[in-house]
Amino acid sequence: MTDVLEAPAHANFVGGKWHPSRSGRTYEKRGPWRPSEVIGEFPASDAADVDAAVEAAAAAFPAWSRLSGAARGEVLRRAADALDRRVEQVAQDMTLEMGKPIREARMEAARMAQILRFFAGEGLRDTGERYEQAATGSVVYTMRRPLGVVGLITPWNFPAAIPAWKAAPALVYGNTVVMKLAQEAPLTGLHLAACFEEGGVPPGVFNVVVGRGSAVGTPLVEHPLVKAISFTGSVAVGVQVRGEATALGKRVQLELGGHNPLIVMADADLDRAAEAAYAGAFWSAGQKCTATRRILVEEPVYDGFRSLLVARMERGVVGDPADPQTEVGPIVNEAQLEEVLAGIEKGRADGGTLLAGGERIDDEAYLLAPALFEGLSDDAFLSCQEVFGPVTSLYRFTSLDEALRRANAVEYGLSASIFTSSLASARQFAQEIEAGIIRINGQTAGADVHVPFGGVKSSGFGPHEQGRAAREFYTEVVTVYEDV
Ligand code: NAD
Repeated sequence: MTDVLEAPAHANFVGGKWHPSRSGRTYEKRGPWRPSEVIGEFPASDAADVDAAVEAAAAAFPAWSRLSGAARGEVLRRAADALDRRVEQVAQDMTLEMGKPIREARMEAARMAQILRFFAGEGLRDTGERYEQAATGSVVYTMRRPLGVVGLITPWNFPAAIPAWKAAPALVYGNTVVMKLAQEAPLTGLHLAACFEEGGVPPGVFNVVVGRGSAVGTPLVEHPLVKAISFTGSVAVGVQVRGEATALGKRVQLELGGHNPLIVMADADLDRAAEAAYAGAFWSAGQKCTATRRILVEEPVYDGFRSLLVARMERGVVGDPADPQTEVGPIVNEAQLEEVLAGIEKGRADGGTLLAGGERIDDEAYLLAPALFEGLSDDAFLSCQEVFGPVTSLYRFTSLDEALRRANAVEYGLSASIFTSSLASARQFAQEIEAGIIRINGQTAGADVHVPFGGVKSSGFGPHEQGRAAREFYTEVVTVYEDV
Protein backbone atom coordinates (compact mmCIF):
# COMPACT_ATOMS: atom_id res chain seq x y z
CA MET A 1 0.00 0.00 0.00
CA THR A 2 2.90 2.39 0.57
CA ASP A 3 3.11 3.25 -3.12
CA VAL A 4 -0.44 4.62 -3.22
CA LEU A 5 -0.08 6.44 0.09
CA GLU A 6 2.77 8.58 -1.16
CA ALA A 7 2.20 12.30 -0.89
CA PRO A 8 1.97 14.08 -4.23
CA ALA A 9 4.94 16.20 -5.24
CA HIS A 10 4.92 19.66 -3.66
CA ALA A 11 4.75 21.14 -7.12
CA ASN A 12 2.48 22.51 -9.80
CA PHE A 13 0.87 19.99 -12.13
CA VAL A 14 1.13 21.43 -15.63
CA GLY A 15 0.92 19.66 -18.99
CA GLY A 16 0.85 16.27 -17.27
CA LYS A 17 4.10 16.87 -15.36
CA TRP A 18 5.06 18.05 -11.87
CA HIS A 19 6.98 21.33 -12.01
CA PRO A 20 8.46 23.74 -9.47
CA SER A 21 7.45 27.36 -10.02
CA ARG A 22 9.24 28.85 -13.06
CA SER A 23 10.95 31.39 -10.81
CA GLY A 24 12.05 28.62 -8.42
CA ARG A 25 10.44 30.48 -5.53
CA THR A 26 8.67 28.55 -2.79
CA TYR A 27 6.81 29.33 0.41
CA GLU A 28 6.80 27.50 3.73
CA LYS A 29 3.54 25.96 4.79
CA ARG A 30 2.85 25.54 8.51
CA GLY A 31 -0.14 23.86 10.12
CA PRO A 32 -2.42 25.50 12.70
CA TRP A 33 -1.96 22.87 15.41
CA ARG A 34 1.85 23.13 15.69
CA PRO A 35 2.70 26.27 13.71
CA SER A 36 6.35 26.22 14.84
CA GLU A 37 6.84 23.23 12.50
CA VAL A 38 7.16 23.65 8.74
CA ILE A 39 5.11 20.93 7.06
CA GLY A 40 6.22 21.53 3.51
CA GLU A 41 7.52 23.93 0.88
CA PHE A 42 5.24 24.68 -2.05
CA PRO A 43 5.65 26.66 -5.25
CA ALA A 44 5.16 30.41 -4.94
CA SER A 45 3.88 30.60 -8.51
CA ASP A 46 3.26 33.68 -10.61
CA ALA A 47 1.95 34.78 -14.00
CA ALA A 48 4.59 32.74 -15.90
CA ASP A 49 3.29 29.54 -14.31
CA VAL A 50 -0.27 30.53 -15.10
CA ASP A 51 0.67 31.20 -18.74
CA ALA A 52 2.26 27.76 -19.06
CA ALA A 53 -0.76 26.05 -17.49
CA VAL A 54 -3.29 27.93 -19.62
CA GLU A 55 -1.33 27.21 -22.78
CA ALA A 56 -1.18 23.50 -21.90
CA ALA A 57 -4.92 23.51 -21.23
CA ALA A 58 -5.67 25.29 -24.50
CA ALA A 59 -3.53 22.83 -26.47
CA ALA A 60 -5.31 19.88 -24.84
CA PHE A 61 -8.83 21.21 -25.40
CA PRO A 62 -9.54 20.10 -29.00
CA ALA A 63 -8.78 16.42 -28.41
CA TRP A 64 -10.40 16.28 -24.96
CA SER A 65 -13.58 18.00 -26.10
CA ARG A 66 -13.91 15.61 -29.05
CA LEU A 67 -13.76 12.51 -26.84
CA SER A 68 -17.12 11.02 -25.95
CA GLY A 69 -18.63 11.95 -22.60
CA ALA A 70 -18.37 8.29 -21.67
CA ALA A 71 -14.60 8.28 -22.30
CA ARG A 72 -14.14 11.43 -20.23
CA GLY A 73 -16.30 9.90 -17.51
CA GLU A 74 -14.02 6.85 -17.47
CA VAL A 75 -11.06 9.08 -16.56
CA LEU A 76 -13.09 10.49 -13.66
CA ARG A 77 -14.07 7.00 -12.54
CA ARG A 78 -10.45 5.83 -12.53
CA ALA A 79 -9.43 8.95 -10.61
CA ALA A 80 -12.19 8.15 -8.08
CA ASP A 81 -10.74 4.65 -7.67
CA ALA A 82 -7.32 6.19 -7.06
CA LEU A 83 -8.85 8.53 -4.49
CA ASP A 84 -10.54 5.64 -2.68
CA ARG A 85 -7.10 4.13 -2.15
CA ARG A 86 -5.73 7.30 -0.57
CA VAL A 87 -8.70 8.59 1.45
CA GLU A 88 -6.84 8.21 4.73
CA GLN A 89 -3.76 10.02 3.40
CA VAL A 90 -5.84 12.86 1.99
CA ALA A 91 -7.67 13.19 5.32
CA GLN A 92 -4.45 13.24 7.33
CA ASP A 93 -2.83 15.82 5.05
CA MET A 94 -5.95 17.98 5.27
CA THR A 95 -5.92 17.82 9.07
CA LEU A 96 -2.22 18.64 9.18
CA GLU A 97 -2.28 21.56 6.77
CA MET A 98 -5.53 23.34 7.70
CA GLY A 99 -6.63 21.79 11.00
CA LYS A 100 -9.96 20.17 10.10
CA PRO A 101 -10.67 17.50 12.74
CA ILE A 102 -9.77 14.11 11.31
CA ARG A 103 -13.29 12.69 11.61
CA GLU A 104 -14.66 15.43 9.37
CA ALA A 105 -11.58 15.32 7.12
CA ARG A 106 -12.20 11.59 6.49
CA MET A 107 -15.77 12.29 5.44
CA GLU A 108 -14.68 15.07 3.13
CA ALA A 109 -11.90 12.99 1.57
CA ALA A 110 -14.35 10.14 0.90
CA ARG A 111 -16.77 12.61 -0.63
CA MET A 112 -14.23 13.59 -3.28
CA ALA A 113 -14.53 10.18 -4.90
CA GLN A 114 -18.35 10.30 -4.67
CA ILE A 115 -18.30 13.62 -6.51
CA LEU A 116 -16.10 12.22 -9.26
CA ARG A 117 -18.37 9.18 -9.64
CA PHE A 118 -21.53 11.27 -9.83
CA PHE A 119 -20.03 13.36 -12.61
CA ALA A 120 -18.56 10.31 -14.37
CA GLY A 121 -22.20 9.27 -14.84
CA GLU A 122 -22.97 12.63 -16.44
CA GLY A 123 -20.83 11.54 -19.37
CA LEU A 124 -23.61 9.12 -20.31
CA ARG A 125 -26.60 11.43 -19.91
CA ASP A 126 -28.41 13.67 -22.39
CA THR A 127 -26.48 16.44 -24.08
CA GLY A 128 -29.45 18.43 -25.36
CA GLU A 129 -33.11 18.45 -26.36
CA ARG A 130 -34.82 17.46 -29.59
CA TYR A 131 -37.81 19.29 -31.12
CA GLU A 132 -39.57 19.65 -34.48
CA GLN A 133 -39.18 22.81 -36.55
CA ALA A 134 -42.43 24.78 -36.57
CA ALA A 135 -42.61 25.32 -40.33
CA THR A 136 -41.47 21.97 -41.70
CA GLY A 137 -41.47 19.41 -38.93
CA SER A 138 -37.77 18.76 -39.57
CA VAL A 139 -35.49 18.22 -36.61
CA VAL A 140 -34.24 21.12 -34.49
CA TYR A 141 -32.11 20.20 -31.52
CA THR A 142 -30.02 21.81 -28.83
CA MET A 143 -26.51 20.78 -27.99
CA ARG A 144 -24.47 21.50 -24.89
CA ARG A 145 -20.89 22.32 -25.77
CA PRO A 146 -17.90 22.91 -23.50
CA LEU A 147 -16.56 26.44 -23.06
CA GLY A 148 -12.83 25.80 -23.53
CA VAL A 149 -10.23 26.50 -20.81
CA VAL A 150 -11.86 27.25 -17.47
CA GLY A 151 -10.15 28.76 -14.42
CA LEU A 152 -11.13 27.36 -11.03
CA ILE A 153 -10.21 29.28 -7.84
CA THR A 154 -10.71 27.46 -4.55
CA PRO A 155 -10.59 28.31 -0.81
CA TRP A 156 -8.77 26.46 1.97
CA ASN A 157 -11.74 25.46 4.13
CA PHE A 158 -13.02 22.56 1.97
CA PRO A 159 -9.72 21.76 0.28
CA ALA A 160 -10.88 18.36 -1.01
CA ALA A 161 -14.56 18.75 -1.81
CA ILE A 162 -14.51 22.13 -3.55
CA PRO A 163 -11.66 21.38 -5.98
CA ALA A 164 -13.42 18.08 -6.80
CA TRP A 165 -16.86 19.59 -7.32
CA LYS A 166 -15.49 22.25 -9.65
CA ALA A 167 -13.06 20.04 -11.59
CA ALA A 168 -15.32 17.04 -12.12
CA PRO A 169 -18.15 18.78 -14.02
CA ALA A 170 -15.70 21.04 -15.86
CA LEU A 171 -13.88 17.99 -17.20
CA VAL A 172 -16.75 15.64 -17.92
CA TYR A 173 -18.53 18.26 -20.03
CA GLY A 174 -15.37 18.61 -22.12
CA ASN A 175 -13.54 21.65 -20.78
CA THR A 176 -9.89 21.74 -19.82
CA VAL A 177 -8.90 23.17 -16.45
CA VAL A 178 -6.41 25.40 -14.71
CA MET A 179 -7.03 25.23 -10.99
CA LYS A 180 -5.61 27.65 -8.43
CA LEU A 181 -5.48 26.06 -5.00
CA ALA A 182 -5.57 28.10 -1.80
CA GLN A 183 -2.16 28.76 -0.32
CA GLU A 184 -3.30 27.48 3.08
CA ALA A 185 -4.23 24.01 1.80
CA PRO A 186 -2.25 23.01 -1.28
CA LEU A 187 -1.47 19.40 -0.41
CA THR A 188 -5.06 18.18 -0.25
CA GLY A 189 -5.82 19.57 -3.70
CA LEU A 190 -2.59 18.19 -5.13
CA HIS A 191 -3.85 14.71 -4.24
CA LEU A 192 -6.66 15.34 -6.72
CA ALA A 193 -4.11 16.07 -9.44
CA ALA A 194 -2.17 12.93 -8.51
CA CYS A 195 -5.36 10.89 -8.80
CA PHE A 196 -6.22 12.37 -12.19
CA GLU A 197 -2.71 11.51 -13.29
CA GLU A 198 -3.19 7.95 -12.02
CA GLY A 199 -6.57 7.86 -13.74
CA GLY A 200 -4.90 8.62 -17.08
CA VAL A 201 -5.99 12.19 -17.70
CA PRO A 202 -4.29 13.32 -20.94
CA PRO A 203 -1.48 15.89 -20.44
CA GLY A 204 -2.76 19.46 -20.22
CA VAL A 205 -6.39 18.57 -19.55
CA PHE A 206 -6.12 19.21 -15.81
CA ASN A 207 -3.53 21.64 -14.45
CA VAL A 208 -2.91 22.94 -10.95
CA VAL A 209 -0.99 26.05 -9.95
CA VAL A 210 -0.25 26.87 -6.31
CA GLY A 211 0.41 30.33 -4.98
CA ARG A 212 -0.96 33.61 -3.72
CA GLY A 213 -4.25 35.08 -4.83
CA SER A 214 -2.81 38.19 -6.39
CA ALA A 215 0.15 36.36 -7.97
CA VAL A 216 -1.80 33.44 -9.48
CA GLY A 217 -5.51 34.27 -9.23
CA THR A 218 -5.35 37.63 -10.99
CA PRO A 219 -3.33 36.42 -14.02
CA LEU A 220 -5.68 33.44 -14.31
CA VAL A 221 -8.76 35.66 -14.31
CA GLU A 222 -7.17 38.02 -16.83
CA HIS A 223 -5.69 35.43 -19.21
CA PRO A 224 -7.28 35.86 -22.67
CA LEU A 225 -7.50 32.10 -23.30
CA VAL A 226 -9.50 31.49 -20.11
CA LYS A 227 -13.19 31.52 -21.01
CA ALA A 228 -14.80 31.24 -17.59
CA ILE A 229 -13.97 31.54 -13.89
CA SER A 230 -15.56 29.57 -11.08
CA PHE A 231 -14.61 31.09 -7.74
CA THR A 232 -15.34 30.06 -4.15
CA GLY A 233 -14.13 32.29 -1.34
CA SER A 234 -14.87 35.54 0.44
CA VAL A 235 -17.31 38.18 -0.74
CA ALA A 236 -14.60 40.83 -1.02
CA VAL A 237 -12.37 38.80 -3.34
CA GLY A 238 -15.32 37.32 -5.23
CA VAL A 239 -16.73 40.72 -6.08
CA GLN A 240 -13.32 41.83 -7.31
CA VAL A 241 -12.93 38.69 -9.45
CA ARG A 242 -16.41 39.19 -10.91
CA GLY A 243 -15.57 42.78 -11.82
CA GLU A 244 -12.33 41.80 -13.56
CA ALA A 245 -13.78 38.78 -15.35
CA THR A 246 -17.00 40.37 -16.58
CA ALA A 247 -15.10 43.42 -17.83
CA LEU A 248 -13.24 40.96 -20.06
CA GLY A 249 -16.49 39.33 -21.19
CA LYS A 250 -15.98 36.09 -19.28
CA ARG A 251 -18.53 33.83 -17.69
CA VAL A 252 -18.30 33.92 -13.87
CA GLN A 253 -19.68 31.82 -11.06
CA LEU A 254 -19.22 32.87 -7.42
CA GLU A 255 -19.86 30.93 -4.21
CA LEU A 256 -19.22 33.29 -1.33
CA GLY A 257 -19.79 33.78 2.36
CA GLY A 258 -22.87 33.31 4.50
CA HIS A 259 -24.53 34.46 7.74
CA ASN A 260 -26.70 31.44 8.25
CA PRO A 261 -29.67 31.42 10.64
CA LEU A 262 -31.09 28.50 12.60
CA ILE A 263 -34.65 29.04 13.84
CA VAL A 264 -35.87 27.00 16.81
CA MET A 265 -39.64 26.96 17.20
CA ALA A 266 -41.37 26.24 20.53
CA ASP A 267 -42.68 22.94 19.10
CA ALA A 268 -39.19 21.70 18.12
CA ASP A 269 -37.31 18.70 19.47
CA LEU A 270 -34.96 20.84 21.56
CA ASP A 271 -32.32 18.16 22.13
CA ARG A 272 -31.94 17.63 18.39
CA ALA A 273 -31.98 21.36 17.78
CA ALA A 274 -29.21 21.95 20.35
CA GLU A 275 -27.09 19.20 18.81
CA ALA A 276 -27.59 20.71 15.34
CA ALA A 277 -26.75 24.17 16.66
CA TYR A 278 -23.52 22.89 18.19
CA ALA A 279 -22.45 20.99 15.09
CA GLY A 280 -23.52 23.73 12.69
CA ALA A 281 -21.79 26.52 14.59
CA PHE A 282 -18.65 24.84 15.86
CA TRP A 283 -17.57 21.79 13.85
CA SER A 284 -14.54 22.65 11.71
CA ALA A 285 -14.17 25.55 14.19
CA GLY A 286 -17.00 27.37 12.42
CA GLN A 287 -14.89 27.67 9.27
CA LYS A 288 -17.66 26.70 6.89
CA CYS A 289 -19.51 29.02 4.58
CA THR A 290 -22.67 27.25 5.82
CA ALA A 291 -21.84 27.47 9.55
CA THR A 292 -24.64 28.61 11.89
CA ARG A 293 -23.97 32.27 12.74
CA ARG A 294 -27.33 33.16 14.36
CA ILE A 295 -29.69 31.03 16.43
CA LEU A 296 -33.19 32.49 16.77
CA VAL A 297 -35.25 30.82 19.49
CA GLU A 298 -38.96 31.24 20.18
CA GLU A 299 -39.54 32.97 23.51
CA PRO A 300 -41.24 30.15 25.48
CA VAL A 301 -38.32 27.74 24.94
CA TYR A 302 -35.45 30.26 24.85
CA ASP A 303 -34.14 29.64 28.37
CA GLY A 304 -34.45 25.87 28.09
CA PHE A 305 -32.71 25.79 24.71
CA ARG A 306 -29.91 28.05 25.96
CA SER A 307 -29.25 25.67 28.89
CA LEU A 308 -29.13 22.69 26.53
CA LEU A 309 -26.72 24.41 24.16
CA VAL A 310 -24.41 25.64 26.94
CA ALA A 311 -24.39 22.12 28.42
CA ARG A 312 -23.56 20.70 24.98
CA MET A 313 -20.68 23.17 24.67
CA GLU A 314 -19.35 22.05 28.05
CA ARG A 315 -19.33 18.44 26.80
CA GLY A 316 -17.74 19.41 23.45
CA VAL A 317 -14.27 18.08 22.65
CA VAL A 318 -11.94 20.90 21.61
CA GLY A 319 -8.30 20.16 20.82
CA ASP A 320 -5.90 18.21 18.63
CA PRO A 321 -7.50 17.79 15.19
CA ALA A 322 -5.64 14.52 14.65
CA ASP A 323 -7.52 12.94 17.58
CA PRO A 324 -10.64 11.13 16.26
CA GLN A 325 -12.60 12.31 19.34
CA THR A 326 -11.99 16.00 18.60
CA GLU A 327 -15.04 17.96 17.46
CA VAL A 328 -13.50 21.44 17.29
CA GLY A 329 -9.93 21.98 16.11
CA PRO A 330 -7.84 25.11 15.51
CA ILE A 331 -8.42 28.18 13.36
CA VAL A 332 -6.46 27.98 10.10
CA ASN A 333 -3.78 30.62 10.80
CA GLU A 334 -2.77 33.44 13.09
CA ALA A 335 -4.32 36.20 10.99
CA GLN A 336 -7.69 34.41 10.99
CA LEU A 337 -7.43 33.80 14.73
CA GLU A 338 -6.79 37.51 15.29
CA GLU A 339 -9.78 38.37 13.13
CA VAL A 340 -12.04 36.04 15.08
CA LEU A 341 -10.77 37.40 18.43
CA ALA A 342 -11.42 40.93 17.13
CA GLY A 343 -14.96 39.87 16.19
CA ILE A 344 -15.50 38.58 19.72
CA GLU A 345 -14.25 41.91 21.12
CA LYS A 346 -16.71 43.73 18.86
CA GLY A 347 -19.46 41.46 20.22
CA ARG A 348 -18.58 42.53 23.75
CA ALA A 349 -18.30 46.20 22.77
CA ASP A 350 -21.73 45.98 21.11
CA GLY A 351 -23.23 44.97 24.49
CA GLY A 352 -23.37 41.20 23.91
CA THR A 353 -23.03 38.79 26.82
CA LEU A 354 -20.57 35.97 26.26
CA LEU A 355 -22.26 32.86 27.71
CA ALA A 356 -19.36 30.52 26.97
CA GLY A 357 -15.91 30.36 25.39
CA GLY A 358 -14.29 33.07 23.32
CA GLU A 359 -10.70 32.81 24.55
CA ARG A 360 -7.55 31.26 23.11
CA ILE A 361 -6.84 28.01 24.96
CA ASP A 362 -3.44 26.86 23.70
CA ASP A 363 -0.12 28.68 23.70
CA GLU A 364 0.93 27.36 20.34
CA ALA A 365 -2.13 26.06 18.46
CA TYR A 366 -4.58 28.61 17.07
CA LEU A 367 -7.22 27.08 19.28
CA LEU A 368 -10.25 29.02 20.47
CA ALA A 369 -12.94 27.88 22.92
CA PRO A 370 -16.23 28.01 20.94
CA ALA A 371 -18.04 31.25 21.75
CA LEU A 372 -21.77 31.79 22.37
CA PHE A 373 -23.23 35.29 22.69
CA GLU A 374 -26.65 36.59 23.61
CA GLY A 375 -28.14 40.04 23.92
CA LEU A 376 -26.79 41.40 20.63
CA SER A 377 -29.00 43.70 18.60
CA ASP A 378 -29.80 42.71 15.02
CA ASP A 379 -27.52 45.41 13.66
CA ALA A 380 -24.52 44.48 15.84
CA PHE A 381 -21.37 43.46 13.95
CA LEU A 382 -21.67 39.77 14.84
CA SER A 383 -25.34 39.75 13.82
CA CYS A 384 -24.59 40.79 10.25
CA GLN A 385 -20.94 40.16 9.34
CA GLU A 386 -19.34 36.78 8.66
CA VAL A 387 -16.68 36.06 11.30
CA PHE A 388 -15.02 32.89 10.08
CA GLY A 389 -14.64 30.98 13.34
CA PRO A 390 -16.47 29.19 16.18
CA VAL A 391 -18.70 32.11 17.17
CA THR A 392 -22.50 32.21 17.21
CA SER A 393 -25.27 34.19 18.94
CA LEU A 394 -28.72 33.58 20.42
CA TYR A 395 -31.74 35.83 19.74
CA ARG A 396 -35.33 35.67 21.09
CA PHE A 397 -38.42 35.95 18.90
CA THR A 398 -42.17 35.68 19.40
CA SER A 399 -43.59 34.65 15.98
CA LEU A 400 -42.35 32.89 12.87
CA ASP A 401 -43.12 35.98 10.80
CA GLU A 402 -40.80 37.99 13.05
CA ALA A 403 -38.09 35.29 12.96
CA LEU A 404 -38.20 35.17 9.16
CA ARG A 405 -38.02 38.94 8.83
CA ARG A 406 -35.00 39.09 11.13
CA ALA A 407 -33.33 36.02 9.63
CA ASN A 408 -33.61 37.63 6.18
CA ALA A 409 -32.24 41.00 7.30
CA VAL A 410 -28.64 40.34 6.20
CA GLU A 411 -26.93 40.70 2.85
CA TYR A 412 -26.19 36.96 2.70
CA GLY A 413 -28.42 34.06 1.66
CA LEU A 414 -26.45 30.83 1.72
CA SER A 415 -28.04 28.27 4.07
CA ALA A 416 -30.76 28.30 6.75
CA SER A 417 -32.47 25.81 9.06
CA ILE A 418 -35.65 25.53 11.08
CA PHE A 419 -36.43 23.09 13.86
CA THR A 420 -40.17 22.53 14.21
CA SER A 421 -42.75 19.74 14.34
CA SER A 422 -45.25 21.84 12.40
CA LEU A 423 -45.55 21.15 8.69
CA ALA A 424 -47.14 24.57 8.24
CA SER A 425 -44.14 26.31 9.84
CA ALA A 426 -41.69 24.22 7.83
CA ARG A 427 -43.51 25.05 4.57
CA GLN A 428 -43.67 28.77 5.36
CA PHE A 429 -39.97 28.74 6.16
CA ALA A 430 -39.11 26.99 2.89
CA GLN A 431 -41.22 29.54 0.98
CA GLU A 432 -39.97 32.70 2.65
CA ILE A 433 -36.42 32.23 3.92
CA GLU A 434 -33.87 33.93 1.69
CA ALA A 435 -31.31 31.14 1.32
CA GLY A 436 -30.08 28.80 -1.38
CA ILE A 437 -29.82 25.75 0.92
CA ILE A 438 -32.82 25.26 3.19
CA ARG A 439 -33.03 22.60 5.87
CA ILE A 440 -35.96 21.40 7.93
CA ASN A 441 -34.85 19.79 11.22
CA GLY A 442 -31.20 19.59 10.21
CA GLN A 443 -28.05 21.67 10.77
CA THR A 444 -27.19 24.54 8.41
CA ALA A 445 -23.99 22.87 7.14
CA GLY A 446 -23.57 19.87 4.86
CA ALA A 447 -24.51 19.12 1.26
CA ASP A 448 -25.28 16.12 -0.95
CA VAL A 449 -23.22 15.72 -4.10
CA HIS A 450 -26.12 15.08 -6.50
CA VAL A 451 -28.25 18.19 -5.89
CA PRO A 452 -27.57 21.88 -6.56
CA PHE A 453 -25.51 23.85 -4.05
CA GLY A 454 -25.28 27.61 -3.89
CA GLY A 455 -26.45 30.81 -2.29
CA VAL A 456 -28.73 33.69 -3.16
CA LYS A 457 -28.29 37.45 -2.47
CA SER A 458 -24.63 38.30 -1.82
CA SER A 459 -23.76 34.64 -1.16
CA GLY A 460 -23.66 33.60 -4.78
CA PHE A 461 -23.64 34.70 -8.38
CA GLY A 462 -24.35 32.70 -11.50
CA PRO A 463 -25.58 29.12 -11.81
CA HIS A 464 -25.31 26.81 -8.81
CA GLU A 465 -22.68 24.11 -8.43
CA GLN A 466 -23.04 20.35 -7.97
CA GLY A 467 -25.70 18.00 -9.22
CA ARG A 468 -26.94 18.47 -12.78
CA ALA A 469 -27.09 22.21 -12.10
CA ALA A 470 -23.33 22.30 -12.69
CA ARG A 471 -23.75 21.91 -16.45
CA GLU A 472 -25.43 25.33 -16.67
CA PHE A 473 -22.09 26.92 -15.93
CA TYR A 474 -19.70 24.54 -17.68
CA THR A 475 -21.55 24.26 -21.01
CA GLU A 476 -23.14 26.59 -23.53
CA VAL A 477 -26.31 25.68 -25.39
CA VAL A 478 -26.46 25.96 -29.19
CA THR A 479 -29.49 25.25 -31.37
CA VAL A 480 -29.19 23.27 -34.60
CA TYR A 481 -31.87 23.43 -37.32
CA GLU A 482 -31.43 20.33 -39.47
CA ASP A 483 -32.95 20.25 -42.94
CA VAL A 484 -32.22 17.70 -45.61
P1 NAD B 1 -10.50 34.10 -0.05
O1 NAD B 1 -11.52 34.91 -0.78
O2 NAD B 1 -9.48 34.81 0.74
O3 NAD B 1 -9.69 33.19 -1.08
C1 NAD B 1 -10.32 32.28 -1.97
C2 NAD B 1 -9.37 31.98 -3.11
O4 NAD B 1 -9.19 33.18 -3.90
C3 NAD B 1 -7.96 31.57 -2.67
O5 NAD B 1 -7.46 30.58 -3.55
C4 NAD B 1 -7.19 32.87 -2.82
O6 NAD B 1 -5.81 32.67 -2.97
C5 NAD B 1 -7.81 33.43 -4.07
N1 NAD B 1 -7.60 34.88 -4.26
C6 NAD B 1 -7.29 35.80 -3.32
N2 NAD B 1 -7.16 37.02 -3.90
C7 NAD B 1 -7.43 36.86 -5.21
C8 NAD B 1 -7.49 37.74 -6.33
N3 NAD B 1 -7.25 39.03 -6.20
N4 NAD B 1 -7.82 37.23 -7.54
C9 NAD B 1 -8.10 35.92 -7.69
N5 NAD B 1 -8.05 35.03 -6.66
C10 NAD B 1 -7.72 35.50 -5.44
O7 NAD B 1 -11.32 33.05 0.84
P2 NAD B 1 -10.74 31.97 1.87
O8 NAD B 1 -10.28 32.69 3.08
O9 NAD B 1 -9.80 31.05 1.17
O10 NAD B 1 -12.08 31.16 2.20
C11 NAD B 1 -12.99 31.55 3.16
C12 NAD B 1 -14.18 32.25 2.54
O11 NAD B 1 -14.76 31.41 1.54
C13 NAD B 1 -15.31 32.52 3.51
O12 NAD B 1 -15.86 33.79 3.28
C14 NAD B 1 -16.34 31.44 3.18
O13 NAD B 1 -17.65 31.76 3.56
C15 NAD B 1 -16.17 31.30 1.71
N6 NAD B 1 -16.64 29.99 1.24
C16 NAD B 1 -17.78 29.92 0.50
C17 NAD B 1 -18.27 28.68 0.08
C18 NAD B 1 -19.54 28.56 -0.73
O14 NAD B 1 -19.71 27.55 -1.39
N7 NAD B 1 -20.41 29.54 -0.72
C19 NAD B 1 -17.56 27.52 0.40
C20 NAD B 1 -16.39 27.64 1.14
C21 NAD B 1 -15.93 28.89 1.54
